[in-house]
Amino acid sequence: MASVEQGASTELEWDAPLFHTAVTQLEQALPHADVDDAIGLRLRYPEQAVMLSVPVKLDDGTAAVFPAYRVQHSSALGPTKGGIRYDQEVTLGECAALAMWMTWKCALLRLPYGGAKGGVRCNPRQMSQGEIQRLTRRFTSELLPFIGPQEDIPAPDMATNEQTMAWMMDTYSMQVGHAVPEIVTGKPVSIGGSVFRHEATGAGVVIVTERACARLGMPLARQRCVVQGFGNVGGIAATELAERGARVIAVSDVTGGVLNEAGLDLPALHAWVREHGGVADFAESQHITNAELLELPCDVLVLAAREDQVTAENATRVETRLVAEGANGPTSVEADEILAERGIYVLPDVLTNAGGVTVSYFEWVQDLGRLFWTRNEIRARLSDKLTDAFDRVWRLAEDRGLTLRSAALVGGIREVAGAMEARGFYP
Ligand code: NAD
Repeated sequence: MASVEQGASTELEWDAPLFHTAVTQLEQALPHADVDDAIGLRLRYPEQAVMLSVPVKLDDGTAAVFPAYRVQHSSALGPTKGGIRYDQEVTLGECAALAMWMTWKCALLRLPYGGAKGGVRCNPRQMSQGEIQRLTRRFTSELLPFIGPQEDIPAPDMATNEQTMAWMMDTYSMQVGHAVPEIVTGKPVSIGGSVFRHEATGAGVVIVTERACARLGMPLARQRCVVQGFGNVGGIAATELAERGARVIAVSDVTGGVLNEAGLDLPALHAWVREHGGVADFAESQHITNAELLELPCDVLVLAAREDQVTAENATRVETRLVAEGANGPTSVEADEILAERGIYVLPDVLTNAGGVTVSYFEWVQDLGRLFWTRNEIRARLSDKLTDAFDRVWRLAEDRGLTLRSAALVGGIREVAGAMEARGFYP
């Protein structure tokens, strides 16, 4: 019989608050997933993790060494897939948690992938483009034995973007001697990227939110929305919400928050951010802190910044009907319970922000087939995938009396467990 005690527990290696959150969520979902104990135990830990020290020549002639990680959680369904983030808080345990969530997300969406995540602990806001390019190329070189189009396919995440993916693709391609667009997703269209990948996560957040609003009898076009984070996910989600007629009254980023009860002028705000680097000091708005933003009375609160934003400390003061998790892990386990008790629905990250990895999958398929689809085809396929996953999660939540998060995790875990059962326990 499988047990943690019989094997050597590797809990210490992954020790990080976010990994505890991921494991607690897994433990809450497992009793409803009807899977074999041995499979549950296997899924508790990543399959493989790489820890690197990446040396980089800085612009002033000195050198720095950055800690970097890549964690692959499960390869039962196919190659592993997940973003690369550049952030001061990146740790092995954080990557392990994010890799596990990627496994559930890919499986829930029925994509032939397992989960991975990686990152470099650095402060990208204090680095020049040259330094970031050298860091990216050296990191990619060090990762060569662990990544590949059939092994592990990176994508952008916090503070990485299409340019970062282009450097990764180029570095990998130079090593193998020919262009390998399928090694990363989220790259520029000019080198095999997919149209609509850039917008996919934010647009997906709104597709899922709109469907949930319809189920809850609150038409999206009549809702007041607040968005935390104004980067790739939050910036696009805010625009998509406004385009569907919703009123986006407040948004925030690392520089602070802006509020306008009549609705923010989003094209003007995007232009402001392009020029000034953040939303702070935007005209025709009242300035608020990030903490105040999370407590604004609204109908839909989109969390699209980073993990651990709604916690036991502030969950009792969140005044919304629906929380949509565009970011990964923005709601703590304790906050989840408080929100559920207060009757606030939480659309979980593994479902709500899955638009990104879904269009990444479309990008990989297009690269492998060397045949490219139109924007409309991709948008329609994305909508089908997310709608199907949402409906399965909603049904399971109703049938089993689960929160949407537990239902989404149960859905993902069952898919992975099904593959593991079919393949059998090796050797
Ligand atoms: P990004 O770097 O483009 O944007 C992050 C935004 O959050 C920025 O506006 C930043 O200023 C803001 N921010 C950071 N810390 C903040 C804080 N403490 N308070 C308020 N705002 C803060 O990153 P992104 O790609 O938009 O990713 C955001 C989240 O979405 C992450 O959790 C990421 O893992 C998740 N995600 C991203 C994708 C994707 O395709 N980019 C896909 C799935 C999930």
